[in-house]
Amino acid sequence: MARRVLVTGGAGFIGSHVAEAFAAAGDRVAVLDDLSAGKRAQVPPGAEFHELDVGAAAAAEVVRTGRFDVICHLAAQMDVRRSVADPRSDARVNIDGTLNVLEAARAGGGRPRVLFASTGGALYGDLAEPPTAESAPKDPQSPYGVAKLSVELYLAYYGRVHGLDALALRFANVYGPRQDPHGEAGVVAIFCDRLLDAEPLTVFGDGRQTRDYVFVADVVRSVILAARAPIPPAGGLDTRAFNIGTGVETDVLTLARTLGDAAGTSARTVHAPARDGEQRRSAVRIDAAARALDWRPDVPLARGLRDTYAWFAARRGALAR
Ligand code: NAD
Repeated sequence: MARRVLVTGGAGFIGSHVAEAFAAAGDRVAVLDDLSAGKRAQVPPGAEFHELDVGAAAAAEVVRTGRFDVICHLAAQMDVRRSVADPRSDARVNIDGTLNVLEAARAGGGRPRVLFASTGGALYGDLAEPPTAESAPKDPQSPYGVAKLSVELYLAYYGRVHGLDALALRFANVYGPRQDPHGEAGVVAIFCDRLLDAEPLTVFGDGRQTRDYVFVADVVRSVILAARAPIPPAGGLDTRAFNIGTGVETDVLTLARTLGDAAGTSARTVHAPARDGEQRRSAVRIDAAARALDWRPDVPLARGLRDTYAWFAARRGALAR
């Protein structure tokens, strides 16, 4: 039976792919997005669209009255540097906006499955040796990470006290078509743009810092599975939280080289000074998602980079015509 699915942030990079996948499965999709970073054109045709701030009373009304079976909450201020420059506005969207959605879901009286887009990259910090399990100590290094952790604590509370059926998916470094190359996040998108401009790729520090790059189609599949999976009884912070990554660390120099191969060119790199406070290593353990959601990533990095580069190249071609 078709479900009613709300995707907040559904005009953005990951959210638009998620909305598309639910629509393709025959579900009835609504998207709520203020278009601060997303694009109207990325909302799948046929989806109901609400151009609203997640923190607004009208957004709460959409959630409260929408009779949603699934709420994928992806709307977020996701620029880490901006969160450092202005923690209050980050918290306004990422904490307060989320509470607006959760309170409205509770007031709606149904029992929607709530899936929250959390972060594997910004939650654990450098305390634990990668790949990091969900239960590892949390040490967020930015207001963005603090906000994601705070929301996860709220979710655990809502689960225990109000019976909210909520899961946190801790995404590693997601890459793929539609990622914004103009922000500070998304090194793959930035590198694709530079390659297409025949410009060198800027590598900060020695380029040996590692991340866990996961292709957006794999991330979308984790969301689709999490929307249906039986979930553990409510408990502590990590009880209903699942890392979504590959478990593989890739350093920036390797990423640049692999992307160059995917693009059929040799990527020139230039080094810039290391960035203050940048995490050295990051990758997440994914056994818990494999067990509970029957999810594993399918797309090897070389293939994901090839598809991503091809998308950026095609878009460039279309814009030039
Ligand atoms: P994105 O910026 O493309 O998507 C976020 C969407 O939220 C945008 O469409 C934006 O317009 C919308 N939005 C922002 N503020 C809003 C507000 N106040 N009200 C309504 N809509 C608002 O980013 P993304 O990479 O697709 O990220 C989606 C989610 O996944 C975010 O919650 C992000 O924190 C999380 N996440 C992303 C990554 C990654 O590597 N991209 C990693 C971990 C977690």
